[in-house]
Amino acid sequence: MSAVIPIHAGSGCSDAPVLKERGQREVFCGLTGIIWLHRKMQDAFFLVVGSRTCAHLIQSAAGVMIFAEPRFATAILDERDLAGLADAQDELDRVVKRLLERRPDIRLLFLVGSCPSEVIKLDLSRAASRLSQQFMPQVRVLNYSGSGIETTFTQGEDACLAALVPVLPVSMQQQAPELLIVGALADVVEDQFSRLFNAMGLKQFAFFPSRSSTALPAIGPQTRFLLAQPFLGDTAKALEARGARRVASPFPLGAEGTTAWMQAAGAAVGLSAATVDQAITPARQRAELALAAHREQLQGKSIFFFPDSQLELPLARFLSRELGMTLTEVGTPYLHRQHLAEELAWLPAGTLLSEGQDVEKQLDRCRAARPDVVVCGLGLANPLEAEGFTTKWSIELVFTPIQGFEQAGDLAGLFTRPLTRRQLLAA
Ligand code: SF4
Repeated sequence: MSAVIPIHAGSGCSDAPVLKERGQREVFCGLTGIIWLHRKMQDAFFLVVGSRTCAHLIQSAAGVMIFAEPRFATAILDERDLAGLADAQDELDRVVKRLLERRPDIRLLFLVGSCPSEVIKLDLSRAASRLSQQFMPQVRVLNYSGSGIETTFTQGEDACLAALVPVLPVSMQQQAPELLIVGALADVVEDQFSRLFNAMGLKQFAFFPSRSSTALPAIGPQTRFLLAQPFLGDTAKALEARGARRVASPFPLGAEGTTAWMQAAGAAVGLSAATVDQAITPARQRAELALAAHREQLQGKSIFFFPDSQLELPLARFLSRELGMTLTEVGTPYLHRQHLAEELAWLPAGTLLSEGQDVEKQLDRCRAARPDVVVCGLGLANPLEAEGFTTKWSIELVFTPIQGFEQAGDLAGLFTRPLTRRQLLAA
């Protein structure tokens, strides 16, 4: 297999029409992002300003945390008498003060907005700057919205990172292009990428978000940023506003996607394709070998994606090109044509693409297509299973490390496992 599969402009689904739907949707809100962000940013704390529903959502999404004091909480405001908003601001100040006294390890505090009208009326950005002034330099306070009115679940990460961009330090010493990888990755994936960058001889690279808020990457006009996740539109815009330049690439899913992503990283900082190829070949070959075992089971099987995580297009590209699956419909909550241009070019021509959701109509299309596997949110999975469909929860694809060469086989396994399970049940 060649190192990089050339991308031809105008090929695949680059110019394909997209079915746009604006009806009822079944997706989690942006608060869900706290679950993986609090693991990544080890000295940050996420204080949701919301209702009991919000508290319930993140508690059940996170599971029960017995062994460690969690780094998120909910300040419940909806049951108070909020006749005076000044009272709510005072109450928020009191909650934050109490929290910071009890948790001196916190360096970065996010006030996370939510849907209830009481919260929408609160000016959280004013609260954040007031509290920052009070608690800096020990603790920086920022805010973003995880509200279900504004965000689907991965957009919570986008909103969080976009809020962080303005406080990234300015790089004064950039002589040559420096690489910034953008998007929360599991530590194990980040370490693997670091090893490959080192093997390529790449010296100046950083990850955003960083594990510690006291080691935020500096950015400047020589910063070349490479998205590791496809749902970071606002973060990319904020980085570009600060002079950084985006490196176009498919996303690092599968052997092929990771190869192209690594090549894009190398090219952005002036490395030759041969240098990158030499550094990544053993890992790429391991990934190809791991995928071969799954291809036998997935080849020719059909798959339907309901819109949920914005990972749908890169996943569909991986499953169709590297595992031979047939794409019946690829739905996404939002299609960022620029950031997904390389993915669109790699999708087979004629793929049905949809953006947004009208859930009943989409369920009808799914029933008519009778796909072998359906990727969807938790709310749709159980009813579809009951109708005899094999489902995969899209949220699992966000919580599981799936990027990079070493994870390619595991990623394929996430699709073979539900099929095997159903076969066993049928037997
Ligand atoms: S932010 Fe909105 S959608 Fe999310 S849990 Fe709270 S009330 Fe529900």
